[in-house]
Amino acid sequence: MSENRVVDVARKSVLVVGLGKSGVASAIFLKSRGARVTVTDIKSEDQLRKEIPTLLDHGIDVETGGHGDRSFHDQDLIVVSPGVPVDSPPLIQARSRGEKIIGEIELASWFLPAQIVAITGSNGKTTTTSLTGEVLAAAGRKVLVGGNIGTPAISLVEKTTPETIVVLEVSSFQLETIDIFRPKIAAVLNISPDHLDRHGSMDAYVNAKARIFENQGAEDFAVLNHDDQACVEMARKTKSQLYWFSRNGEVIRGAFLRQGRIYFRDANADEREIMPAADIPLKGAHNVENVLAVVCLSSLLDCEPESIRAGVRNFKAVEHRLEYVATIKGVEYYNDSKATNVDAAIKAIESFRSNVHLILGGKDKDSDYTALNELLRARVKRVYLIGAAAGKIESHIKDAVEIIHAGTLENAVRQAGASAHPGDVVLLAPGCASFDQFEDYTHRGRIFKEAVRSLARSNQV
Ligand code: ADP
Repeated sequence: MSENRVVDVARKSVLVVGLGKSGVASAIFLKSRGARVTVTDIKSEDQLRKEIPTLLDHGIDVETGGHGDRSFHDQDLIVVSPGVPVDSPPLIQARSRGEKIIGEIELASWFLPAQIVAITGSNGKTTTTSLTGEVLAAAGRKVLVGGNIGTPAISLVEKTTPETIVVLEVSSFQLETIDIFRPKIAAVLNISPDHLDRHGSMDAYVNAKARIFENQGAEDFAVLNHDDQACVEMARKTKSQLYWFSRNGEVIRGAFLRQGRIYFRDANADEREIMPAADIPLKGAHNVENVLAVVCLSSLLDCEPESIRAGVRNFKAVEHRLEYVATIKGVEYYNDSKATNVDAAIKAIESFRSNVHLILGGKDKDSDYTALNELLRARVKRVYLIGAAAGKIESHIKDAVEIIHAGTLENAVRQAGASAHPGDVVLLAPGCASFDQFEDYTHRGRIFKEAVRSLARSNQV
């Protein structure tokens, strides 16, 4: 049981910065616990017209269209949303005045009476977090899933009892604003360059991820990917009991593959066979890694192999993660809109042997697309570029593959559909953020699926 501290926030002045999902949930929670709550956002009143009425109904003060400097003064606590950079000027000043600044995950952990399993990594967080939830449920455990995956952790507090296991997906931005957050089990799935536009450097990004282990002690568990060099280096910083997972070799303690079967080896070197890797109903070697992580986490929580097998076998790919959409004239279409960085795009391409028509592009995050070149040469017939980063991507990959400037996603689907032959694959794995042309990656994924369906209809007539 982690030592979560219930902090009395009654009559305390709290400022919530940023009115995303977790900001709104934090403000309402704090108000329900008797705090005096103000929220502030740089968006205009009009942009926040959905959120404001609920907040006012709860008796929360709302400031929109920018942060008044005075709002940051004399607060007992400032709760900052993951979308707000920790080095923004009002926060730097508040910190220098000694005001306490935390994020919503930290706040939630003060009030959650449960064991917390926290999962971070550059890619695979959502898949691994939801699959862990499914396996624990299959094992008959009381489990709640939340965090970066959708339901803010703070919204789970009222539903949680001491028997509940709370599985949280945690992003690097959320880890930047923890203080005493201490998961019983913490996992880092992998580290590859992402969000460098906001973290500034790879070191800063890795350090933020490593904070997931910061408050753990000898009774807690750390789970790390043995095939990932950055994870291996991170292990030196952990004080908790270390477990590994690996697709490439056997590990001292943790989950691994032997002759196509998944095993878990515990601290006494006792081994248990869990399941054949061929039974994993998800495409791609990266999903074997995700399942190995889940095997490790759920075995540490005493789940039996039968429940792990049942949970994994019944699992369906999460929407927008290498999601099969349709087969039209013998060409398969896959939606991996969530491949928002170069490594995820690499993993998506690696999931197909050859003849891939790849839709790439969007909003750049200071990424290096030359990392794609080897795979583009080996497996990709043509790349269809979309979005704002098209010019930069072209300059990085032009020697490796034929490029079509499609501009929009709809156009890319039409052009790919027109030139693909039976047996080929059309894959949306953009390797970029979506915000140049879409509201978010889910919007991009829906537009892709709609374009594919429309192509299917036009092929029927
Ligand atoms: P996250 O929540 O970390 O973004 P998701 O499960 O939503 O992770 O997957 C994000 C993207 O990364 C998808 O394109 C998915 O296919 C890919 N992916 C999933 N697991 C891994 C992994 N272990 N390594 C690399 N890429 C992965």
